[in-house]
Amino acid sequence: MTERVRGIGMTSERTRMRMVERLRAAGVRDEKVLAAMAQIPRHIFIDEALSSRAYDDLSLPLGHGQTISHPLTVARMCEIARGGRELGRVLEIGTGCGYQAAVLSCIAREVFSVERIAALLEQARVRILRELRLRNVRMKHVDGREGLPEAAPYDAIVMAAAAPEAPPALIEQLAPGGRMILPLGNAKQRLCLIERLPSGIVESMLEEVHFVPLRAGVLR
Ligand code: SAH
Repeated sequence: MTERVRGIGMTSERTRMRMVERLRAAGVRDEKVLAAMAQIPRHIFIDEALSSRAYDDLSLPLGHGQTISHPLTVARMCEIARGGRELGRVLEIGTGCGYQAAVLSCIAREVFSVERIAALLEQARVRILRELRLRNVRMKHVDGREGLPEAAPYDAIVMAAAAPEAPPALIEQLAPGGRMILPLGNAKQRLCLIERLPSGIVESMLEEVHFVPLRAGVLR
């Protein structure tokens, strides 16, 4: 492991373990998710100048006007998406810095993550594939509103950008029993869980959150 990945002081494993204890205290119960958050070094996904804040309970800027989600939001979304199940294929919309994709790689067999901003995706590729060598993550530069039909269906879909309503293509790409978690709304947003049950599609509204908006088209 390189020194950068291992971290020291404010980026050390001890600091990360304290973050995990705060997640537990905040009500995260899924041990597999907590273990994933204990394993993935969050500081390598954040600009060097901000890395001493990587394990604080904050969302942080990641460039291009985008933000890496608050650790509790990442943990909650993973916990809800998993729903206590073993996950095969998972799709993430909005790779951003790649942190959530890395966490998902520890709780699912295969992770597909898509991002519309090419520069962010390139950086995420370096961190996930070269620095952490997470071999079960595939990343693609596409508009995530259409999902990723070529690898569908997915046991879980995690959308990391907010929309007024769930993109229909994503609901279509959910496997039977599949769960999708996404922030719904504009100025005021809530997490929404969408489940594909034998009886049909069921939606539940959960806690309030704050995400950047889902946008149309791709940027080179
Ligand atoms: N999961 C990320 C959080 C990223 S913020 C992390 O751990 O850092 C949301 C991301 O969604 C941004 O990078 C933004 O560019 C991306 N995004 C917004 N609209 C999108 C779309 N239509 N398709 C794919 N990605 C999109």
